[in-house]
This record gives sequence, structure tokens and C-alpha cells, in this order.
Amino acid sequence: MDGTLDNDIRAVVDADRAHVWHHLTQHKPFETGDPRIIIEGKGMRVWDQNGKEYLDAVSGGVWTVNVGYGRAQIADAVRDQLMKLCYFAQSAGSIPGSIFAQKLIEKMPGMSRVYYTNSGSEANEKAFKMIRQIAHKKYGGTKHKILYRDRDYHGGTLAAMSAGGQDERNMQYGPFAPGFVRVPHCLEYRKEELGLGHLSGREFGIAAANLIEEVILREGPDTIGGLCLEPVTAGGGVITPPEGYWERVQEICKQYNILLHIDEVVCGIGRTGSQWFGYQHYGIKPDFVTMAKGVASGYAAIAICVTTEEVFEMFKSDPSDKLDHFRDISTFGGCVAGPAAALENMKIIEDEGLLENCTAMGARLMGNLRALMEKHAVIGDVRGIGLFQGAELVKDRTTKEPVDEKDMAAVVAACGAAGLIIGASNRSIPGRNNVLCFSPALIVTADDIDFITNTVDAALTKVFG
Ligand code: PLP
Repeated sequence: MDGTLDNDIRAVVDADRAHVWHHLTQHKPFETGDPRIIIEGKGMRVWDQNGKEYLDAVSGGVWTVNVGYGRAQIADAVRDQLMKLCYFAQSAGSIPGSIFAQKLIEKMPGMSRVYYTNSGSEANEKAFKMIRQIAHKKYGGTKHKILYRDRDYHGGTLAAMSAGGQDERNMQYGPFAPGFVRVPHCLEYRKEELGLGHLSGREFGIAAANLIEEVILREGPDTIGGLCLEPVTAGGGVITPPEGYWERVQEICKQYNILLHIDEVVCGIGRTGSQWFGYQHYGIKPDFVTMAKGVASGYAAIAICVTTEEVFEMFKSDPSDKLDHFRDISTFGGCVAGPAAALENMKIIEDEGLLENCTAMGARLMGNLRALMEKHAVIGDVRGIGLFQGAELVKDRTTKEPVDEKDMAAVVAACGAAGLIIGASNRSIPGRNNVLCFSPALIVTADDIDFITNTVDAALTKVFG
């Protein structure tokens, strides 16, 4: 670790404590003790202000640094681009913006147009706005409602929160935007909550999708314009779709003429292994795909809303109608550092075979977590795809009562003390965030995976015996 900051570290800690408002964080831990300041990262590892090394099993905390830390190739490309042109509004084109759009669309058969923006929340809001405008252009404004799912998350801006399926994040921030309607989740492990306890496998998957149809029929199909879903729910507890679910969801969208918006903010760009996007595992043909985190692995801010040519065509301007086109602007959607970084990020994934590594290491992680489940009764379920996995902790495998929040925190803290950073879920019911989350960078090795699960093993023993 580079020691240059060491002399000033006390001032940094003091400045942080005095002036920084950290996200999703209670104030108390920052008033007492030292806040954690991450100083440096290399490969899979980061170092804090005390020089303590951690293996980062959550890619920058929130599924972001897909290609790992310290990539000179990306930093150089960003620097070169900034020196050539740092910024120009997206009303004009740019070299990296155009080339990356082409490369991205090559990975997304059936999709066609790339709209650049700034964050996952904004990318989702772009899709919501497009769906709303289509409702006005084609259906006189009636088909304007957007369906979202319990336990899914689409961002922290108010309209994205209006489509937020995690109540714990939404409480005290209402009222929300009208026209967003919740549909039930599809987690088979919690199927009793859905009244589908008697079904399993494909039958369960189809029945879970049919719950969406029930909402559509209740609301009126001609009021529903879009359905926004994560292909695999991330922060809501790593929920992989049951068999038959996506097939039936797509039939329903077709039948009721509902546009399908897939939120790939977490799953996108290799996280799920073997495919570039989560939706590609399930034969989904989306109308909108939004992405952010792994697109440039956090080396620059970039988010994207991708649409089909059919959607784009609906906005083709009639010169006599000044309201006809997509009347949206994103200042930093014009930042060229984002696509410059994204191009190199994609190249690294290709050159180093990281989609394949993600699949192989994901299988090892899943195998190790299943072995832990044999040993620790507190693990009620293990699920995930690629390097995107979760272990649900319960007090009792029969009742499935979630472990206490303090015990979840103790597991995360015990891992931290042993040099491992892991995550925990955000459920829709406060007090029930009981899924440990694992999403290491796609460069992770077999030894790293074993370190992750051995450390979790020790932490579970420490907390639960
Ligand atoms: N969509 C999903 C699935 C997410 O997990 C997140 C953030 O965690 C977002 C959207 C919002 O992205 P951002 O924080 O970049 O606005």
C-alpha cells in the first residue's frame, strides 16, 4: 500500500467525521470510533486508513467493480479521452460514445438504441419517461401505469422509489409518484407468503407469474404501459427466477401489450457469468434494458437505457409536432469518460475470459455455500447465478423465521475483522434483512473463493455456534 496519505490520515478521518454524510448509514458509528476510509485498491483487495487489507467480496460494496481495482488500461483511456475532450453535451455525438454504443449493441441482439445518463436510478427513470410518453403518443395517456415487483429496487430518486419494492428504503419519503403498481415477488423459498406453498418448480414459476396477471386484470390492462423487473433481484435478497417464470411473464406482457423493462443495473456486463446480461439466461426479449454499475466498473460514472428500434421509431419526430421526440436531457450523460472507461472494461472482460471465469468461480462459490449449508443449520437457502449469490439465514429451517438483524450485523462484522467484506440484503419488511450477499469481481480466483467461504464459515460459528 502507498503510504503517502499516512501522515495526513487523522485529518482525513476528522474531515470525514465532520462533513461527510454517508449513504445508508446511521450517524452513531461515525460519532464514536473511526469511520472506515478506503484508501487503495488492487485486484480483489482494498486497504483502509489503518493499512488493514480486505478481500472485497462485494465489488466496491455494491456490485460495481467487475474487473477489479487498479486497472491502468482503463485509467489511461479515461485520461487520454479527458485530455482530448472532457465533455460535450449529448446533443452532439462523441467518439467513445458512438463506438461503445456499437459494441454494446453487438452484445444485445434485438436491441438497438443507447441513451446515456448518469446513474442507475436515472437510467430507470428514462425508461419510465419513455413508457409514459408512449402512453400519451399512442393511447391518449391511458396506458401509463408501470408495474414493479415486491423486493426489487430501481433507485433512490423519487420516481425510482415509487417503483421500489423495498419498503424499508421508502418509509418516511412519501408520498410517491402515482401510477406505479406493485406485483408480488417470485421467491420460491418464501412461497408461503404468496399463497403458493403447495406448488414447486415450474408450476410455482408459472403461478408466480400469474400473480402479475391478476394485478393487471385488477387494474385494467388498458391502464398498464410497462413492467419493470430485475432479471435476478439483487438487494432484495438475491432472488433467481423460478423455472417457467420468465416464459409466462413474457406471454402476459404480449397478451396485454405491456412494454418489458429489464433493470440490469446489477446483473449487467458479466455479473451472472457466460452471458453479458442476466436477461440473456432466460430467453427474455426486452423493450428496455437499463444498466449502470459494472458498465465501467466504477472507473467513471456511466448509466444507460437501451431500447429496441421499435421503441426508438415511436419517437421519430414529426417536424410539425414540437412535442414528438423524447424531450429529456442529462448533463452528465454527455460525459465521455464514461464510455471511454466502458470500452476498456468490456475489452478486459473479453481479453481475460472473465465471463467464463465468472461461471467457473460462481459454480465454486455455490458449491462451497451449499457445503456450508450442510454444516450450519442457520443457512436456510442458498441461491444465485454466476458471481451473484446469497445465503439466507433463518432461526429455524421449518418456520423460516429470519435471524435477528444484530446477528446479521455480527456475521458481517466478524468477516470484516477477518479481512473480508461481504454484504447483506434489503428486504421489503423492516427487520428482515437476512440474506448475506456475495458478488466478488469477475477476476476472483479459486483461492479467493475458498477464503470467502472459510471466513464466512468461521463467522457463522462465532455468531451462532
Ligand atoms: N437498480 C438496481 C437493481 C440497483 O441495485 C440499483 C442500486 O443499487 C439501482 C437501480 C440504482 O442505481 P444508482 O444507485 O446508480 O442510482
